[in-house]
Amino acid sequence: MKIPSYKRCADSPIQQFVPPNRVRVPIDKMAPIIKQGDHIEAGMLIARTDSDARWQFRRHSPLTGEVVAIEEKPNNGNEYQEIIIEGNAPTTARPNKHNVSNSFSSDDIVSAAREAGIVGMGGGMFPTYAKLSPNVPIDCVIINASECEPYMTCDHRVLLEHRDEVESGLELAKQAVGAKRGEIANDKHGYPFGYENFIIRNLLGREVPSGGLPKDVGVVVINVQTAQTLHHAVYGQQPLTQRVVTVDGDAVSKPGNYLIPIGTEIGYVLEQCATDLESTALLLGGGPMMGKPVDLDSPVTPGMGAILALTATQIQKANDGPCVRCGECLEACPLGLPAGLLSEQPDESVLECIECGICQYACVGSRPLLDKLREAKAQIRKAKAGSV
Ligand code: SF4
Ligand code: SF4
Repeated sequence: MKIPSYKRCADSPIQQFVPPNRVRVPIDKMAPIIKQGDHIEAGMLIARTDSDARWQFRRHSPLTGEVVAIEEKPNNGNEYQEIIIEGNAPTTARPNKHNVSNSFSSDDIVSAAREAGIVGMGGGMFPTYAKLSPNVPIDCVIINASECEPYMTCDHRVLLEHRDEVESGLELAKQAVGAKRGEIANDKHGYPFGYENFIIRNLLGREVPSGGLPKDVGVVVINVQTAQTLHHAVYGQQPLTQRVVTVDGDAVSKPGNYLIPIGTEIGYVLEQCATDLESTALLLGGGPMMGKPVDLDSPVTPGMGAILALTATQIQKANDGPCVRCGECLEACPLGLPAGLLSEQPDESVLECIECGICQYACVGSRPLLDKLREAKAQIRKAKAGSV
């Protein structure tokens, strides 16, 4: 099934708007190391995981100013916090180029990635330092530049405008894992063939085992902006405090690719992009296939590649009618999964689902299959954990 790409921002150069005077920096899985009333500088560490946590996360302030509050936020039962900072973004822009003649050890690169708080900017938000210290032999690092989700063009622009920085990040990642081969993969087969397991199959002919990871077949895959951020962390000691986001949808009058501080409220972004909120029927963080509904006060996160303000005519309404067993979802699924059946009677095969949403797009009854599959996966995982 061919999903329309709607890449109308592909020719829009990366822009910046007036930075916000307030950000709400999300600190999921971390604890704040600052308190209300503290003065902080842009780039300063403001939250981190305990030193004995299995995965280490760090977050840094995008603004110089004051911590005005630390708020608890509900998130489907998983509470997290937001650090609200009022102040100003640095007046000096991040230098684009650094002196790249230095040489670094694998440990230097892994530690720079960890301390800069770099996470997968393709959406996964898994800590990059952990990917770069896989403890198994890796012979190839792939930068996934496929960006196959409809509308999203932020990585395309970063690669076009800052290819040298992305290539430098690729070299650093290769050095970190000891890989000889590095590739920038730009699969053009459309959605969902930019998914990393498909990229590995098409590029290297290797099959990531069900439930496995790319490292199981000797590969590390990182996103374009993750690689760029790694370059800035290693050569410029700069933490992850900003990212390029595609802002689009028919309700947006100034769509484009914008460099935005992490924690900027989506309402502020939409205001800067002249968005008609009255005609916005669905607000998404991420692309239309895998993105999640967000509010005006939701923050931009490191993994948020798009903000879409879609009008009623752009969205397919879910109606949760009965399944008519037409088989369209099975036909459309790139993994051959019977989505309709699995959403009602899940078994372990649902764990293979990559949550691409194509089955929902194909469903003749417009059933909300993706939510049901996500629930089914959570149920099966819980049952498996309980039986161990
Ligand atoms: S079942 Fe999962 S992998 Fe298959 S189309 Fe649906 S969301 Fe995608
Ligand atoms: S496409 Fe929809 S209606 Fe058809 S079998 Fe799948 S879930 Fe049922």
